[in-house]
Amino acid sequence: MISDFRFKISDFFLLRVFASLRSLILLLVFFAVPAHAEFRFPMPEFASGYKHPPVYTPGPSTAMVGWDIVVLLATLTLAAVFVLKRRKRREIFLLTLFSLLYFGFVRNGCVCSVGSIQNVAAGLCNSAYGVPLTVLIFFAAPLIFALLFGRVFCAAVCPLGAIQEAVAVKPVKVPLAVEKVFSIVPYIYLGLAMLSVAMGSGFIICQYDPFVGFFRMGASSSLLIFGGLMLALGIFVARPYCRFLCPYGVLLNWASKLSRRHAVITPADCIQCGLCADSCPYNAINKPMTATVPESRGKGARRLGLLILLIPVLIVTGAGAGRLLREPLSRMHPTVRLAERIAGEELGRYKGTTIESAAFRASDTPNEKLYAEAVGLKEKFGLGGMVFGAFIGLVVGCKLISVSVFRKRTDYEPNRGACYSCGRCFKYCPVKE
Ligand code: SF4
Ligand code: SF4
Repeated sequence: MISDFRFKISDFFLLRVFASLRSLILLLVFFAVPAHAEFRFPMPEFASGYKHPPVYTPGPSTAMVGWDIVVLLATLTLAAVFVLKRRKRREIFLLTLFSLLYFGFVRNGCVCSVGSIQNVAAGLCNSAYGVPLTVLIFFAAPLIFALLFGRVFCAAVCPLGAIQEAVAVKPVKVPLAVEKVFSIVPYIYLGLAMLSVAMGSGFIICQYDPFVGFFRMGASSSLLIFGGLMLALGIFVARPYCRFLCPYGVLLNWASKLSRRHAVITPADCIQCGLCADSCPYNAINKPMTATVPESRGKGARRLGLLILLIPVLIVTGAGAGRLLREPLSRMHPTVRLAERIAGEELGRYKGTTIESAAFRASDTPNEKLYAEAVGLKEKFGLGGMVFGAFIGLVVGCKLISVSVFRKRTDYEPNRGACYSCGRCFKYCPVKE
């Protein structure tokens, strides 16, 4: 019964993928023919006094942007209905495919809620940076829905989650300890992304988005390989990007923990049969904890007190480590990289030039000016590194507390922060309404 269900899902998925790929190839051929034909016309004669017309760069189509907001809100609402009311995995999955096609392949993965954190951070760090309203809505709406209904955005709206959900045909369980250890990585990535924005080093979440190359049908070979490896891994380890990298997932996790309503495994009372326990490929089902209380209240309280006292130590240690890492961290900034390259070329450490170093030399800017700028940036990274390290120290402390605190639980229930509301577990529960 269970394997039947899985087979149907994977079979259905493969058919959809092949159908989508076929349509995309046909579309490419369709557009490539006239594009090629364009070059067969005679070239214009520019030596005859012809004046170039002014070049206008069209801004984003407001109609399309408005449409994106409508689609975002509609898909979020539908996802909430499918997860909380209808409780049908098939409907959630169909909506996932729609979001993959629309937000991924039609809109090329942009605007994207995951990347929008950087725009919002840039707006907070720099008063001259205006955050477009659309980006603000893409940032806030999934979080508001997570506060109300859990991670329904991850379930069926996010194109990054959708592409991984679509390939997760043979998901295996990752040991819980491994899951817990690697769950710190999204916090590190979030911290690095915020540091990069604050220092003006660029939007690294967008730069290293592993799937955008597929959505846009083109990217650097290294990014395509990274994306391909993520998808290959995603066949067996469901949603590797979501679980072990996504920085927006950190915010969704926090919001979902506080959600007013959330996906439930059973529509009625849990009979604790345990059938759902292994159905979740994300280790997001909490098991009952009632039969054995591991220790006395006093012992637990003492350990909690010690961990709370440890938090300032972790913060200070993290801040110190972050300061020590200012040199490698500062290399996120293109000016620092350029200064090191120029210095290396001057010392004969590198042969030849790069595009950036050649452009710098052509600009006639004195090397000393570039070096001074790089030194100033390294100092700023020292301070930024301290904040980043302190944040990671705080996260480690909070994680230690969360794994050591015993919470009484009588039923099998989704872990509100980690659950993607994918609906896989619904079918495994024998209790019907
Ligand atoms: S965890 Fe991140 S990438 Fe995954 S579905 Fe949620 S927002 Fe998208
Ligand atoms: S709905 Fe949540 S708990 Fe159930 S299988 Fe999906 S992620 Fe796991």
